[in-house]
Amino acid sequence: MSILRVARLGHPVLRMVADPVDPADIPGDDVQRLIADMLETVDAYDGAGLAAPQVHVSRRVVVLHLGDEAGMRVWINPVVTPLTDEMVVTMEGCLSVPGLRGAVARPAAVEVQALDQHGAPVRLHLRGFAAVVAQHECDHLDGVLYVDRVDPRTLAFLEEYRRFGAFPWGTDEDTGEDTGEDTDEDTDEDTGEDTDETASPDPPAEGEEHLLDDDALESWAESISDQDTN
Ligand code: ZN
Repeated sequence: MSILRVARLGHPVLRMVADPVDPADIPGDDVQRLIADMLETVDAYDGAGLAAPQVHVSRRVVVLHLGDEAGMRVWINPVVTPLTDEMVVTMEGCLSVPGLRGAVARPAAVEVQALDQHGAPVRLHLRGFAAVVAQHECDHLDGVLYVDRVDPRTLAFLEEYRRFGAFPWGTDEDTGEDTGEDTDEDTDEDTGEDTDETASPDPPAEGEEHLLDDDALESWAESISDQDTN
């Protein structure tokens, strides 16, 4: 296994639409080595997730950490489908855009269909931060970076973000059109102990299939806040 070099903003590979992986190739050495190297790389960078284009491989493969319980996942050819119009605003970071954070509004719940590292189909419903990281990573496969979706007024260097918190001057109307008042409430609630978060995931609706409990989401949120993530 090897720790791979991460492509940074400006490298053309980050703007390409990545090629699907032929399922027949998944057991082969090339794909398995790529997965092993990506897992080692995301661990070495202490990231929450990594997409193959970030390591200069334009294939539809992502690895991502979905919380303590769910652990690290490998998705091949993932398809993400929003399940709600409800939006969640999160301060995101990216290993390919080192040293920055910015607020992005995304659908609060998604379905992910993918193949795992063995080629077996997986289908998950994710909410909150797990849904955010899934969307962030899968965006990379289409050449989309979080800075394309960010509210530019919220961009902050990591050092300042840690020092002053998320957009301490307050949100404005541009911060997530669809999140409105709910997000402001979430922000206020969260800033007590955990100023790095801008929004907390809503609890899953009763009976809804979901991967993470609230504790797992919280610990994931805490871990992501200290990392140059994704
Ligand atoms: Zn990223």
